[in-house]
Amino acid sequence: MPRPIHAHVHTEALAHNLRRARQCAPDAKVWAVVKANAYGHGIERAYAGLHGADGFALLDLDEAQRIRALGWRGPVLLLEGCFEARDLELCSRLGLWHTVHCNDQIDLLAAHKTHAAHHVFLKLNSGMNRLGFKPGTYRSAWQRLSGLTQVDDITLMTHLADADGPRGIDDPLALFEATTHDLPGDRSLANSAATLRFAPSTPAVRGDWVRPGIMVYGSSPDYPAAGIDAWGLHPTMTLAARLIATQQLQAGDRVGYGGAFTAPQAMRIGVVACGYADGYPRVLRADAPVLVDGVRTRVVGRVSMDMITVDLTPVPQAQAGSLATLWGVGPNDSVLPIDEVAAAAGTVGYELMCGLAPRVPTVAV
Ligand SMILES: *Cc1c(COP(=O)(O)O)cnc(C)c1O
Repeated sequence: MPRPIHAHVHTEALAHNLRRARQCAPDAKVWAVVKANAYGHGIERAYAGLHGADGFALLDLDEAQRIRALGWRGPVLLLEGCFEARDLELCSRLGLWHTVHCNDQIDLLAAHKTHAAHHVFLKLNSGMNRLGFKPGTYRSAWQRLSGLTQVDDITLMTHLADADGPRGIDDPLALFEATTHDLPGDRSLANSAATLRFAPSTPAVRGDWVRPGIMVYGSSPDYPAAGIDAWGLHPTMTLAARLIATQQLQAGDRVGYGGAFTAPQAMRIGVVACGYADGYPRVLRADAPVLVDGVRTRVVGRVSMDMITVDLTPVPQAQAGSLATLWGVGPNDSVLPIDEVAAAAGTVGYELMCGLAPRVPTVAV
């Protein structure tokens, strides 16, 4: 028998979350962001739930080819653009749209021989200071691009640094408008946080294209301020494994490497066939949540490579074979949002879903 662990990708939940993005920005087109192998869900599995999107945005050329191989003929956007000259060949061949964030990329385009002119997204650095032209150089970049025969359409784009946080979007939005107000072309600004928090009330941040990623995968961009229930999102990934043993402990017994947990009184624990080699985070605060047979309990002791140990006190009927839900959807309509587990590990849902290990058998349901 294979090791009793699996992940499920919930395609109907993906479709639901995509519809939530549309509701927030009803007049905009929606990029489903599927970089990082669709945030760990698998491009092919995610596509089954997301093919109602207006386009797919990603980083890796290999992933762009996979989207085309699935039969997608609509827009595909490279969010970091091209890395070298031959990437432009692939853009021409597959009709990929690409971001332009620096002069080197304009040089590559100017030297590129193509019959099909390209649609590019010109990126403004609105304060994140990772990629993009500063406001003082943005317009000359636009002029240069618009003079190239290789370019037939320029969408104006920026990425918001703190749409999920207290600074919000006012400053970058004002900078974007001041820099671009008289330039023609579509606009694209909003990630998930901006789509959920600001797009319903602020048409300027919706622009013509929104770019939701994390919300589509059932994780809240601003947890714990708001969770997936508050945003009306559904979990799209479940990680679950079976109990492969139980132990009866006496007061004072220790559990796992380093004996990091000591039983305060007699209690039962379960041993779950999931560890950090499956993508479950090793660094967890005490009492990280887990579901056993749909009942909420906690992880005790250290996470090891292939196993974790869980407190069975709230689930006395649990035994070897019982189902532990590490995140996602459990039995009897139980849900453990990935954001709660991520918070217990001092990280975000993004990192856990992207880190699902290849050894975990994963199926779309
Ligand atoms: C990843 C990414 C997004 C999506 O961000 P989320 O926070 O996951 O919604 C949008 N735009 C760009 C440029 C990105 O790189």
